[in-house]
Amino acid sequence: MSFIEFKNICKKYAGNDKNSVTDFNLDIEEKEFIAFVGPSGCGKSTTLRMIAGFEEITSGDLFIDGKRVNEVAPADRGISMVFQNYALYPHMTVADNIMFPLINRKVPKAEARERAQEMAKLVQLDHLMDRKPKALSGGQQQRVAIARALVKKPEVLLLDEPLSNLDAKLRVETREEIRRIQQEVGITTIFVTHDQEEAMSISDRIAVMEKGVVQQFEVPQKMYLNPGNLFVAQFLGTPQINIFDVTVKGGKIMCGDVILREGCKAADGNYKAGVRPEAFNVSENGILVKATHVRMTGRELQLRVALAKEELRVLVHSDMQVSVGTEFCVTIRDNQILLFDQTGKTVGKY
Ligand code: ADP
Repeated sequence: MSFIEFKNICKKYAGNDKNSVTDFNLDIEEKEFIAFVGPSGCGKSTTLRMIAGFEEITSGDLFIDGKRVNEVAPADRGISMVFQNYALYPHMTVADNIMFPLINRKVPKAEARERAQEMAKLVQLDHLMDRKPKALSGGQQQRVAIARALVKKPEVLLLDEPLSNLDAKLRVETREEIRRIQQEVGITTIFVTHDQEEAMSISDRIAVMEKGVVQQFEVPQKMYLNPGNLFVAQFLGTPQINIFDVTVKGGKIMCGDVILREGCKAADGNYKAGVRPEAFNVSENGILVKATHVRMTGRELQLRVALAKEELRVLVHSDMQVSVGTEFCVTIRDNQILLFDQTGKTVGKY
């Protein structure tokens, strides 16, 4: 038995002719950090709100710690949720904001203050207890919201796009902070984001969703290297994976007349190939390509190269001497050519 179990959960909003979430099945273990990730409108928030009890489950069963909670009131689910906009009380100090859920539950004030202090320490804001929210940075406000969510000692922490209002640098810092806090407290956490890099970088496992359906649930590195279908392959990674048509004939993977690989075990036929921009090695011999765009990003050069009729994204070391028109050879590293069948399902990697 897993700590949180979704069994065939569907959600259909009144007035909507389509399901917003369809046949959602997922098992989450205690203390795991999970991200629901996918494009806007794919059903991430709806799923999170069903766990919190803010949305009714249309069909299916949700279990938390072995107990079916479909009809359990939000306050009785042992769950805390943190929102994108922090939702702090502006007229209250940091201390009062963090204490609020305890005061609300009639916990004696001295005890509430002590527990709030503990939480403030955990999120490293104990020196700012007397400030009002508007005197804090966005990242600090979000940490107050997290402290307030944790002060009740919930069993599950839900985070709905908690970093969206922060600028790029603060987003990275705050996500690391969230991961540290989660590990220190050891709390089962579900994090919703549309940002695949954010999801991969801090989660134990991620669920990639599209159109209300979980496409894959896996450890980030495994999913990145073994996407189950074309959607997942394209959703993960920047710059995006190259997708192009290939033919397999007698073990050769061909892009037009160019042989990309020999000794491939896939059956003869037409496929979509997926090759990540970082999967190419520049080499003495191999596949001849020609640079059509060169962009310096610092850590690497982002190239576009012509290969047969395709134009592919290729990342190379920033010290390579290359300009538009330069011809050079590349090889594709082992197991870095993904093949997808005509329905988009992964056939294998070669
Ligand atoms: P995400 O969080 O991935 O952006 P949502 O869960 O917010 O996606 O939305 C999933 C789908 O459900 C979308 O098509 C959205 O339009 C629809 N939806 C969300 N909330 C409601 C609602 N209250 N009433 C009707 N449809 C909704």
